[in-house]
Parts: sequence; C-alpha cells; structure tokens
Amino acid sequence: MEMREITANIKKALLEAGYNNNLSVTRGKGTACMWVHVKMDVPRHENCSCGEPDEYGRRETCDKCKDKFRAVYNTVNQVATLASGRGGLPYENQNILVNIGWAN
Ligand SMILES: [Zn+2]
Repeated sequence: MEMREITANIKKALLEAGYNNNLSVTRGKGTACMWVHVKMDVPRHENCSCGEPDEYGRRETCDKCKDKFRAVYNTVNQVATLASGRGGLPYENQNILVNIGWAN
C-alpha cells in the first residue's frame, strides 16, 4: 500500500470507529516519511471528577478519565495498525505515532 492509501485507510477506520474529535492522520516528512502521525482529542469521561484547573491550567485527572484515556489510546493504536495493513505484533514497530489529548 502507498502511504497515501495507508493514511486514508487509517483515517476512514478511525472515523468509522467513532473517533472524529479533531482527528488528523498525516505522514512524516523527509526521512520520517514512512511514519504515520495520528492526532485526536478525547472528551473526558461522562462521570468525570477531575479537579479544577490550577493557576497554570493543570488539572488532576480522575481515575475514570485515566482509564478512558488508556482504553482510547490502545483502541486507536489497534484500529490504526489493522487499517495500515502493516500487521505484525499489536502496535509495535509499525511506525505509527498516536498522540491524543483532552478535548476539554
Ligand atoms: Zn475526569
């Protein structure tokens, strides 16, 4: 598969899996051109009890959000790896970088 197809397949699979929050799937530049960068925002858990932001905007993350974050990270890696056609061990050595952050 060409890189253009790989990034398109990954984006399609993630959208179909419901991950559409500021999702971007791009390829690296130059010598990193075989790398796929997946970025998206994750809404906090519906029963979130994270702390209020401090004066620097930092928030303590509640256990529900920690669990959700890990689950989303793992699922996104698995979906992206499958869609890339690169196979092998689950999201190891597949040159796919998943970078997720809180949406709120
Ligand atoms: Zn929370």
